[in-house]
Amino acid sequence: TSIGNPKQLDTLLKDNVLDGKSEKRTVFAGRSNAGKSSLLNSLTHSKIAQISREPGKTRKVNLFFCTYHKRVLTDLPGYGFAKRNKTERKLWEELITSYLNADRANIERIILVTDCRHGPSDSDLEAMEFFQSLDFNVTLVLSKSDKLNQKAMSARRKEIKEIIKDNKPEKTFWISSLKGTGVRELSRDILNDSPR
Ligand code: GDP
Repeated sequence: TSIGNPKQLDTLLKDNVLDGKSEKRTVFAGRSNAGKSSLLNSLTHSKIAQISREPGKTRKVNLFFCTYHKRVLTDLPGYGFAKRNKTERKLWEELITSYLNADRANIERIILVTDCRHGPSDSDLEAMEFFQSLDFNVTLVLSKSDKLNQKAMSARRKEIKEIIKDNKPEKTFWISSLKGTGVRELSRDILNDSPR
């Protein structure tokens, strides 16, 4: 199901599409090119999300759902406000806020995906703060870990610890969708979520 704007969200709510009752949601967020689609695909062992070849191509305001172990995975549109105008940012916030509030009872956590070599960036931190201000549980996923060797990773771990010291995510996972590293651990953790 795709939701392009708050009006469509209203229609969906009226149709009770979001009111799945028993279905828990895991929400995925990230800047475009963070590796979110690849993660969704490796968690579900399928090709539900389209992997972008060029950065910025999937920057549509778009939401979709897919079932995964009786859960609904929600893919939020990518952010990266620095390059976008205020109107676009406001639209993003409006859509995301109305979706998150409408689906609040079912949402267990928001997984924020960022490339471990570059993130968390300022816009990641901004998004994390935004989700936390709405009182959601945030899990940070550092993606593409295969791009770093052990030495670089341990240096990066220290840097990231410092970057996130002021707005700590609930949990942090390092993963590589390409190699499969850490995906099972994350999956297990998602499935172990107890209702909030
Ligand atoms: P999205 O825009 O956040 O959905 O990101 P995508 O999943 O489309 O990935 C963006 C780019 O990063 C693509 O070229 C992917 O092939 C690449 N990528 C994603 N995950 C990994 C990973 O675990 N390792 C490596 N090396 N590349 C990855």
